[in-house]
Order: sequence, then C-alpha cells, then structure tokens
Amino acid sequence: MKKGVLLVVSGPSGSGKGTILDIIKKDKNISVAVSATTRKPRSGEIDGVHYHFMSRERFLDQIATNNILEYNEYCGNLYGTMRSEIESNLNRGKSVILEIDVNGAQKISDSMDCVKIFILPPNIETLKERLLLRGTETRESIKNRIDQAYKEIEKACYYDYIVINAVLDEAVEKIRSILDIEILKKNRIKINIDN
Ligand code: 5GP
Repeated sequence: MKKGVLLVVSGPSGSGKGTILDIIKKDKNISVAVSATTRKPRSGEIDGVHYHFMSRERFLDQIATNNILEYNEYCGNLYGTMRSEIESNLNRGKSVILEIDVNGAQKISDSMDCVKIFILPPNIETLKERLLLRGTETRESIKNRIDQAYKEIEKACYYDYIVINAVLDEAVEKIRSILDIEILKKNRIKINIDN
C-alpha cells in the first residue's frame, strides 16, 4: 500500500502561506487538510474548503469524540485538526498538507511521521502590508497578528525546512521540491515496500 507524506506548514498570518497552498493543492496527489474553527468566515471563504466552520459547542463535541488531533485558541477562536481529514487521505496514497500554528505543529510531530515547513515573509514590513492589503482585519486584529508573528517566528528553528516567500512562484517551487525529495527518502520507500 502506498502512503503519502504529511507536510505540516506554519507561518505567521500574512506570510502568504494560504496563497501558496491554494496553488499547491491543485496537484491531484496532494490534499490540504481542512481545519475546524469557531472563527466566523471571512468574505469569500467557503465552509468545507477553507475551514470547517462550526459553533464552539460543536467543536467541543468533536474533541469529546476524539476527532480533533490537536487544537489551539488564537485571538479568541478555536482552531483544530480533524483526524478524519488526515488519515483518510494518507491511506489513499495522497500527500497531505496541514496548515497549522507552531504549537499545533509540535503536537502533530510528537504523534505522527511528518515533515515540517515554516514559511517566512521577507521582512515584517511586507507582512504588515499584506495584512493591510487583505482588508479583512481590523487595526486591532492586525496589531494582534503582528505581535503573534514575532512569537511564531522565534519557533522557525524547530522546523525541517524554512521557505522565504518573497516571490510567490519561487516559494511554490521550493515546497514542491521538498515534497518530491521527501517522497524519495529511503525510510518512506521502505515503508511502502514493506507494505
Ligand atoms: P486565520 O484566522 O488567519 O485563518 O488563522 C489564524 C491562525 O490559526 C493561523 O496561525 C493558522 O495557522 C492557525 N490555524 C489554522 N488551522 C489550525 C489548526 O487546525 N490547528 C491549529 N492549532 N492552528 C490552526
């Protein structure tokens, strides 16, 4: 049985990771695990595509039934990874990309074989500009996200790879290369041969 690679991707809000992953997930051998959140959808966000949007009560039910592998509270909302999203795709031979914050990434890597990638903006000014341009956040939310970004960037050293997103196409190519290399690693091929 062929098993895919679990790529865990983190980066501060405004690093451009969402845009990068939107391009990468067009590959039919890759699926992006859709997280659950209690945050309200931003304009243009679709339930089941960008997140599984749910009430706090339903989120707590998912934790109780063991369908949430890890979760975190961020700026007043819960965000979590659904077990069903990851396991079903890996077992079908697809690689799975999981976009998750630094604490969640740590929890997943403690319990699953995965490759961790951290996406950095070229500098903090660019990050501020991207958040302003997005036009979806209040001034206070932007300030919160920048404060949070400083804390997250300190943890980049715990990742297997760091990709700087200065030029979108180049960042996308780098992530594709990482995935290609990781699939070829001998321990993964061995797992597939054994199976
Ligand atoms: P946003 O509101 O910008 O979509 O996401 C806010 C933060 O929540 C980001 O840092 C994002 O990586 C994080 N996040 C998204 N999904 C998950 C998840 O499933 N688990 C955890 N722990 N964090 C998540």
